[in-house]
Amino acid sequence: MNLSYPNLVLFGPPGAGKSTQATLLTDHWRLTSISTGQRLRDTIEAQTDLGHEVAAVMAEGKLIDDVLMNRLLIAWLQDVSADYGVLLDGYPRTVVQARSLDVVLTDLERPLTAVVALVLSDTEAIRRLSGRRICRLPGQPDSIIHVSNEAAMERCLMLGGTLFEREDDQPEAITRRLAEYNAKTEPLLRFYAERNQLMLIDADDEPAAVSDTIVAALSAAYPELAATDRAQAVDAETAA
Ligand code: AMP
Repeated sequence: MNLSYPNLVLFGPPGAGKSTQATLLTDHWRLTSISTGQRLRDTIEAQTDLGHEVAAVMAEGKLIDDVLMNRLLIAWLQDVSADYGVLLDGYPRTVVQARSLDVVLTDLERPLTAVVALVLSDTEAIRRLSGRRICRLPGQPDSIIHVSNEAAMERCLMLGGTLFEREDDQPEAITRRLAEYNAKTEPLLRFYAERNQLMLIDADDEPAAVSDTIVAALSAAYPELAATDRAQAVDAETAA
């Protein structure tokens, strides 16, 4: 196995900070992050026939069928440079997908290193999501602020921004999303635990501390990785 980078799957309930961790991990190792939900939304925006097909399914809140999803996943994975690992977020969503991921990654000679599952209590997830506000400033990307950070909330307003709550951060939606995550992810966690590929990571901490825990856990399990973090790789490239 080439372990100059990991090939990872990232799981986590809403509110666990999955996209923040994805960003921090791609800073650490040479990783291309593939968020299937985001890639599908990009496909829709491209307004191709495929985009229209995907849009119709997503609009109904259903999952894209496994055959199409696999075809797309293979194309996205084939696009990843051989010097980079992958970080999958949003796939697999079912045990059937987990089994085909195995086949696809083996075919691409990119075996799965580990599945990182962020663990957060429902109580903390609800606290984070229900207190989450989006600050929108003209000409700038949206940022997320928690209501407990009064200074940041005031700053957003003073700079002429608007603060709003995402529709799916309303209490009933939060409960539904958490229940759905717990129900759907449970069998997958069991699947990977039985294969000794599961790393459970406590996500109830600051993002940088959670990221450090993930990096430490992966580096302990795969010592080759400890020597190949991205900063060192960049240094080596510069020196060459
Ligand atoms: P997400 O942003 O991960 O919540 O995904 C948004 C939507 O994209 C989902 O509701 C599905 O319709 C679709 N989707 C994303 N990932 C998958 C997947 N692995 N299998 C099937 N559909 C998916």
